[in-house]
Amino acid sequence: MILKTNGERLWNSLMEMAKIGPGELGGNRRLALTDADIEGRELFRKWAADAGCTFRLDTMGNLFACRSGKSPDAAPVIAGSHLDTQPSGGRFDGILGVLAALEVVRSLNDHNVITESPIEIVVWMNEEGARFPPAMMGSGVFAGIFEQSEIYTHQDPDGTTVESELRRTKQLGETFCEAFPIKAYYELHIEQGPILEAEGLRIGVVTGGQGAYWTHITLHGQGSHAGTTPMNYRRDPIMGAARIITELRKIIRKHPAAVGTVGRLETHPSSINTIPGRVFFTVDTRHPDEEILAQINQDLEILVQKICTEEQLESELTNIWKAPTINFNQDCVSKVRSAAESLGYSHQDIVSGAGHDACQLSHIAPTGMIFIPCENGLSHDEAENALPEDVTAGADVLLNAILASAAN
Ligand SMILES: [Zn+2]
Repeated sequence: MILKTNGERLWNSLMEMAKIGPGELGGNRRLALTDADIEGRELFRKWAADAGCTFRLDTMGNLFACRSGKSPDAAPVIAGSHLDTQPSGGRFDGILGVLAALEVVRSLNDHNVITESPIEIVVWMNEEGARFPPAMMGSGVFAGIFEQSEIYTHQDPDGTTVESELRRTKQLGETFCEAFPIKAYYELHIEQGPILEAEGLRIGVVTGGQGAYWTHITLHGQGSHAGTTPMNYRRDPIMGAARIITELRKIIRKHPAAVGTVGRLETHPSSINTIPGRVFFTVDTRHPDEEILAQINQDLEILVQKICTEEQLESELTNIWKAPTINFNQDCVSKVRSAAESLGYSHQDIVSGAGHDACQLSHIAPTGMIFIPCENGLSHDEAENALPEDVTAGADVLLNAILASAAN
């Protein structure tokens, strides 16, 4: 049985949601647990209630909207994402996953389909991590990756804690936040990158997420006067950093799927007429293969040592974060692929470049993800955009993957 969603209704809901917490340039600003975020959640709640759902709110503010199945005790099939946005966020990142799951429920109502397993729509709390770090907070506690009591103490830049905002906004629910048996978890998301659009494809069958290493590097040289220190007397860490960064790009480019970024670069004391005594920079490297990623970071360490020896510098290199590579569940991935195939939508397998709630869920439940293209690959920007026909295609794939999982 192949069913279709009502694309126009989904699009209208997306545009209606986008009116809440408007940005300055046509996007959205609904930071987690702000009044705008709560208003968005309330609108979703109203829609889901109208679609016949009952609700469960957990102690991390994760909201589950439930549609019962023929077997009330069966583990549910869950789909969703997040409604919070970046400070200058778009109308689709996260929101699409939640409202497409709602559209799935609405479509099942239209078609009078009762699935065997219950279906739940989930709104994860604070996926973006823009106000309260870290990202993927609600789903991370749910999956047992973060400790709730510790996460409660995290503060926004004004010193307000997660716990106090959960209480103020009445999002601290009664159900203890912990994993329960889940038949399958699906998340539809915009790709947030340029691949599907460039390939002219409608659907990305997400096979997993790439791993990431975050490294802090500090190079120590000798601070000195820019006018009086001849070049051959210098131990200048900015020269070391410049050479490392240039060589790092060559290491990264040896591996076609790898990406590497130096996002922060700070000189000390940062004065125009002083050779810096110290330079600090960050390196973010990512690759879908754990071993290759480890190799890249080993090569980076060797590179730092070699250049520091040549430039007479001392170095400190600290890995501050390692995200493992994620492999989604084979069965969920193939259900997504067959749904795209049966619906006649062009598709290819793709690895997620960004972290998603689905990555957290993959540790405790069979998980799959669906990507659709976004305009110019842009996301985390108010210009973020997607085509109505791609949105519909994504929701159709979500519907049929859920049906396949919830059938028995
Ligand atoms: Zn997202």
